[in-house]
Amino acid sequence: MNQPTPVPEQVDAVVVGAGFSGLYMLYRLRELGLSAKVLEAADDVGGTWYWNRYPGARCDIPTTDYTFSFDPELEKEWTWSEKYATQPEILDYLRLVADRHGLRSDIEFSATVTSARWDEQEERWRITTGRGEQIRCRYYIMATGCLSVPKSPDIEGAGRFAGPVYFTSRWPHEGVDFTGQRVAVIGTGSSGIQSIPLIARQASQLTVFQRTANFSVPAHNGPAPADRLKLLDEDRAGYRHAARWSRGGIPVEPTDVLGVAASEEVRRERFEAAWAQGELFSILNIFADQGVNPASNDIVAEMIREKIRSVVTDPATAEALCPKNHYFGTKRPCLDTGYFETYNLPHVRLVDLREQPIVSITEDGIETAEESFGFDAIVYATGFDAMTGALVAADVTGRDGLSLTEKWAAGPSTYLGLMTAGFPNFFMLTGPGSPSVLSNMAVSIEQHVDWVAGCLKDMRDQGLETIEPTELAEAGWNQHVQDCAAITLHPTANSWYMGANVPGKPLVFLPYIGGVDAYRQACDDVVEQDYLGLQLAGPGGDRCRDGVIRRMQPDVAMVLAFMATLDLPAMETLSAADARGLLAATAADRPPGPEVGEVTDGVIPGPAGDLPYRLYRPAGPPMGPRPLVVYFHGGGWVLGDLDSDDPLCRELCERSGALILSVNYRHAPEDRFPAAALDAFAAVQWADANAVGLGGIPGQLAVAGWSAGANVAAVACQLARDAGGPRISGQLLICPVVDSDLTPPSYQENGDGYILTTALMRWFWDYYADPSDRGDPRAAPLRGDLHGLPPAGIVTADFDPLRDEGVAYARALEAAGVPVRLTRARGHTHTSVTMVGVVISGAPVRAEMGQALRTFFPSAEPQELVS
Ligand SMILES: Cc1cc2nc3c(=O)[nH]c(=O)nc-3n(C[C@H](O)[C@H](O)[C@H](O)COP(=O)(O)OP(=O)(O)OC[C@H]3O[C@@H](n4cnc5c(N)ncnc54)[C@H](O)[C@@H]3O)c2cc1C
Repeated sequence: MNQPTPVPEQVDAVVVGAGFSGLYMLYRLRELGLSAKVLEAADDVGGTWYWNRYPGARCDIPTTDYTFSFDPELEKEWTWSEKYATQPEILDYLRLVADRHGLRSDIEFSATVTSARWDEQEERWRITTGRGEQIRCRYYIMATGCLSVPKSPDIEGAGRFAGPVYFTSRWPHEGVDFTGQRVAVIGTGSSGIQSIPLIARQASQLTVFQRTANFSVPAHNGPAPADRLKLLDEDRAGYRHAARWSRGGIPVEPTDVLGVAASEEVRRERFEAAWAQGELFSILNIFADQGVNPASNDIVAEMIREKIRSVVTDPATAEALCPKNHYFGTKRPCLDTGYFETYNLPHVRLVDLREQPIVSITEDGIETAEESFGFDAIVYATGFDAMTGALVAADVTGRDGLSLTEKWAAGPSTYLGLMTAGFPNFFMLTGPGSPSVLSNMAVSIEQHVDWVAGCLKDMRDQGLETIEPTELAEAGWNQHVQDCAAITLHPTANSWYMGANVPGKPLVFLPYIGGVDAYRQACDDVVEQDYLGLQLAGPGGDRCRDGVIRRMQPDVAMVLAFMATLDLPAMETLSAADARGLLAATAADRPPGPEVGEVTDGVIPGPAGDLPYRLYRPAGPPMGPRPLVVYFHGGGWVLGDLDSDDPLCRELCERSGALILSVNYRHAPEDRFPAAALDAFAAVQWADANAVGLGGIPGQLAVAGWSAGANVAAVACQLARDAGGPRISGQLLICPVVDSDLTPPSYQENGDGYILTTALMRWFWDYYADPSDRGDPRAAPLRGDLHGLPPAGIVTADFDPLRDEGVAYARALEAAGVPVRLTRARGHTHTSVTMVGVVISGAPVRAEMGQALRTFFPSAEPQELVS
């Protein structure tokens, strides 16, 4: 007899996973009055804390912080017994949460989701479990964890070992007794580092196989820190609020001490204090620049290596345990209790797989290139297919039969780490592109769940039934995630953050490193801006406000935020003299720019008196003549001098391999139009006539300038053409002023809030030129005849009021037959591209500038880039 086909169960939302994320999601869905079902592969709640039962398993974020905050009564009732609670205690806590809120009745245990398909007709997800159950739901929420799919060991012969094999991430519930056994542990990441000291207590012989030495810091575990408890007792709500708006999900004041600038004494003091505290966020916050500047990172890394050498008695073992192939923090640093001390025990041995790689696992042990080892048990502490593993494993198929695996073949693509285009009503909690594993995850999980719950409530209130990101919004977010990573040292490491631990996984930086606070703000802004970048549809109407939530480079945004705190007066409200003073004062503390071979100052004769110059010669060979670039500083014809653009000149010198002759010119209001332009032309004539004496190659002369300096550089080219010489090989115009029209869209978009404002440009023009002169091509070169001008490299910045005139000049030059290389400084402002040593994301743009200069001198001897 045929069994009737069971009618699939239908709920509003299916949640996969019953760890921190799934439990809280269920709680919030119920609060909204939505029907929900949680499907969990394990036979109990807990997620990470259900599976990872290996000896020594603990959290590495203080448990006072690694805790739910949504239930204030629970917070009062529950006390963590230690600074870093053990796995059993955290599991008890999650069980209590589930019981306290009666969550279990909506959780299906031992139910592994094997596929999820979006049914376009019904606008429902169809979920299938390994047991064959089918559930239909409107919303599909994956709370499947960032570190929940163990990485299978990619070692030859892994299945051959006859004895017991254990994975730290799938540890037997009854525990393991290694007493009297010869044990191998493969892997020295967090789980290995936590378990090795405890396994060593039982095993008769312990051999640790290490592929990568990892940085680890003593946890100094014990009772929860008294100062933290005091803060919580005094103002728990305030403390949690501060955590939500902190960089990492723990209220830690970010330092502004730069490692490279600090004295030896300050360095040592800060390091020892962090070391004594035994918290990851302290050791990651010793110096403000340790995550971005290799020199600063080396200071911290070397101090940690010193600590390792001081603990481990055998020098060869100590050296093998010292991490040297990655910057500190670019792989997850570990917290330990007696890890390095364990290697001083006579029965514990370290095998460095870089010295002697494993050839094969055998029936009774492990064979390396040099030795055969016999073991009674093997423990794999080999980590996870992080962040994407559980998502793609569950076979999710969205619109048009597109699977997540196919869509993410080149790396994950998400909007806010929460959703992905082509997969309607699909949410990921702590997905790739969100802070997740770089943060205190309890805080990040609550934020994600709250955002999703808020979104579902808004949809219901507004009669909307489907939601999905647009391609534009998603691409913008992916770009922002990569931009944030690119200014750090993280992408240099072969880490699981990059997917590098799983063979064949695309190398993409997976989490969002911009900070929990910045991320929360972005998510809030999306809602505030009417769910920017999301298509919503339903009986309430279809709507989509498309756009990109973060377009600015993260370090540029940081600089602007910092400048805002200084509360400086607007330049245009000052006298010219005071504005010059303010500019000099703000430039006083900036990094000096790269070393160059030689810097000499001098004067050249101008049409109305001497003009000071500074000549930069690149470091290193060849010592002979080089091409010569006459450079003009920015400052709206009113401000600036040889010092103001000194770091940029140094960098242009090193990147181009050319001599840079920076020339000061007469300024308004003392000397108004056309004084600056005439000085510039005179300087170019003089440089051409004196090229040999300056160390230049005759005939290899270019001009460059930034802002108003680019204006006079462009004008000098037109004047040289009209005068029949000198011959100029090229013009590099960085964010140039080329017109006096203050109405283009870039003025409307960027005229306020990005340092160079419309008001300031008006102030500059008023000082420089009478309205009747502003159409003169010597003031507005865009209005001149552009035929026969030298090839141009033009740089424009997205958030610059001058952007459109720069683009217009490039187009007009092209139309006049002039070769143009147009570089768009994506996410930059008028000033940020010149902030050498401050705005790291400007480095590729400045590399482009150097490259543009090189192309002006094709016959010049090619030179290596020094920086
Ligand atoms: C050893 C260890 C220590 C850690 N310590 C810290 C710490 O100190 N601080 C910190 O912030 N973070 C820490 N983490 C990260 C930790 O994973 C998170 O803090 C948090 O527990 C994640 O909760 P979650 O609910 O999002 O995911 P998980 O806890 O991973 O839960 C996901 C659940 O989904 C289930 N699941 C997955 N796929 C399916 C499927 N297809 N069908 C059915 N069920 C499925 C899994 O069985 C699992 O139970 C640690 C991780 C590990 C491994």
